[in-house]
Amino acid sequence: MVEETASLSFMRILMEGIKEMVFVVKVDEADSFTYDFFNQAVVEKTGLTSDAMGKAFSEVCSKEMANFLYDKYKAVVETKKKTSYEDSFYSKENKLLYSETLLTPLCDETGECTHVVSLVKDITNEKRALLESKEVHARLEESSARYQSLFDSNASAIFTLDFNGRIIGGNSSSLELSGYTKEELLEENFVRLISVEDRKLAKEHFQLSKVGEMKDERLRIANKSEQLISCLVKFIPINVKGMITGFYMSAKDMTELDEISGLYKAGEENFQIIAENVHDVIVLMDQNRQYLYVSPSSENIFGFKAESIVQKKAYYQIHADDIKRVGSSFDHAAKNSITFREQLRLLHKNRGWIWTEVAGTPVLGEDNKFNHMVIVARDISIQKEYENQLKHFAYIDTLTELPNRRYFQEYATKRLEMSNESREKLAVLILDIDDFKQINDQWGHEVGDGVIQEFGKRLNHCILGENIAARLGGDEFIVLLTEIESKEQVTKIADVIYQAMKMPIIVQDLSFEISISMGITMAPEEGVSISTMMKRADLAMYKAKRQEKNSFQVSPA
Ligand code: GH3
Ligand code: MG
Repeated sequence: MVEETASLSFMRILMEGIKEMVFVVKVDEADSFTYDFFNQAVVEKTGLTSDAMGKAFSEVCSKEMANFLYDKYKAVVETKKKTSYEDSFYSKENKLLYSETLLTPLCDETGECTHVVSLVKDITNEKRALLESKEVHARLEESSARYQSLFDSNASAIFTLDFNGRIIGGNSSSLELSGYTKEELLEENFVRLISVEDRKLAKEHFQLSKVGEMKDERLRIANKSEQLISCLVKFIPINVKGMITGFYMSAKDMTELDEISGLYKAGEENFQIIAENVHDVIVLMDQNRQYLYVSPSSENIFGFKAESIVQKKAYYQIHADDIKRVGSSFDHAAKNSITFREQLRLLHKNRGWIWTEVAGTPVLGEDNKFNHMVIVARDISIQKEYENQLKHFAYIDTLTELPNRRYFQEYATKRLEMSNESREKLAVLILDIDDFKQINDQWGHEVGDGVIQEFGKRLNHCILGENIAARLGGDEFIVLLTEIESKEQVTKIADVIYQAMKMPIIVQDLSFEISISMGITMAPEEGVSISTMMKRADLAMYKAKRQEKNSFQVSPA
């Protein structure tokens, strides 16, 4: 008994030093529980004071909370098994915090459970990150459906229609084009905007879009003052999670372009080049890269007015990193009478650099020599941002949120290249859970997933600094260790991992004790690739599995 008290008081001193909340709860004869001890972190986070010591749950907490705690503690005392659960609570500052609580029974020599130690870990940050990433997934799913339709249409009038063609919204260009206010437009069928002669064609065009045949059609829109405006009209389905919920009707005023085509007396082919790209900024340049024409949509897309700039030499400001590449593409295309396409950053008046795609087509004069270049520029910043998000997801394993195999290979290859110069040594560890299939078979995939998640989480906690842990797939994980000086250093980290996996993994109130087999390869000689190192580690891991599970093998030995 003296020994127990001494070790308890030692424990208390230790516990005062840690940031996590610790409660020691005494189990009384009649199965009631009283607070025997809690550390400073409890006082700081929950506002409980030392007055609560020696008191029962029901004297300190609300009735529901006391009942909840009673059930949890009772189960631990009865089963004499550790258990954990996730919970949330409000801090003293009224902030919602998420916690993960581990209850551990302490038993005396006779096997009687005398105390329960409760360790409460603050997992608010992890929880938030998880919730946010789920939100990003959901948002991405929706926006990816919308993005394609929006992307092509930014400078045009866009009317939003319901499935039957009724107008339910529109952007500012749509109001400008039609001359109506939003209130006047709402609830009208789009057909009412089309000139009487073109209505039949417009209806057919709309029906075709419903069955997926989308194309541009010349239709005349009659504005509020009954002027007819020749437009290029396209219906783009709004596809949300696999269902067409309505359409975007984009209408591009062609008046100006019709004028240019006359102005340049270009042949039909040249006009085609222009007409096909009406949603974008159109620039005509001579061989000295002087502007001959800039379309008014420039103001919409880049914030600069077109009229004033045609004379200027360097109207569009190109990002320094892109100038050379785009310049030589232009020259090459002009010299060889071929088209060119480049992505580059152009300066927007207010938004800074925006990603733009330019497509250039040389137009030849009567002497068959280069006359001018028709350049069509479009804002692709939405697409770029989307690509970046996709790239992010392409590198993340969604179950564990750890990096995936692709990321590991790219990162490790880079490190290996660096290490060849600096003579730094690397080690690769491959880990595979032993007899994992049994968990799936006995408890189902969902529980199996939970075990993999917890495994990944614990593994990640063991990996610090520039070392990384990734999931290869299934129950297989991989670790890259950098700046390795000795075999002992590596086996020490392997040991830390084994220790971390020793504590049972709790999923859906089930407790799993898992073991892992590990293959390690280190200190590569020069010229060895990451895939060779991965193969070596894999072979070593299988050797461990064959000889003795729950162990590791090092290759070369
Ligand atoms: P060993 O000791 O030889 O490693 O045996 P094992 O039972 O662990 O078998 P192995 O590592 O070869 O196979 C892992 C199993 O993991 C195979 C597959 O059914 C399962 N699995 C693969 N991906 C997932 C997943 O995402 N979730 C779950 N729950 N199971 C998975
Ligand atoms: Mg396995």
